[in-house]
Amino acid sequence: MALHKIITYGHPTLRKKAARITKFDENLKKLAEDMIETMQVSDGIGLAAPQINKSIQIIVIGMDLIDEKWKPRAFVNPKIVAYSDETDIMEEGCLSIPGIREDVVRPIGIKVRFQNLDGSEEEWEVNGLLARVFQHEIDHLNGILFTDRVSPLKKKLLEPKLEQLRSLISTH
Ligand code: ZN
Repeated sequence: MALHKIITYGHPTLRKKAARITKFDENLKKLAEDMIETMQVSDGIGLAAPQINKSIQIIVIGMDLIDEKWKPRAFVNPKIVAYSDETDIMEEGCLSIPGIREDVVRPIGIKVRFQNLDGSEEEWEVNGLLARVFQHEIDHLNGILFTDRVSPLKKKLLEPKLEQLRSLISTH
């Protein structure tokens, strides 16, 4: 297994729309394992491939700290096909936006369609925190960050912090 470097706010890959995956081979399985390991050592509960500078549609979710029945696993080409009308507010953070946490309003429940590592298709209906993590990670595949989804006033207040993260990128 290998750990990957997580890229941070201001890196252009975080703003790209990720490409669909069409090859379900050993390399994809290896990438999924590496992403799970990278997520776990970073204490994250989700990670999307663009965050390790790969613009392809795969995410991993590791909720085992919260739900012991959960096994960390990968979701390929995930797409949300339905949203609940009901929304809630939860504080979110992101491994690519260190030091910032903000409240984000999102639908409570979703229906998500995805492929497994062998290419087989599944559709899940999920609620609560898991639905939240799916939405956050699938946003990454579309170049959207949670800071895009905070209120306009909060966004203004965040701007100096985000600018600071951006400046760290350019000095690397
Ligand atoms: Zn994130």
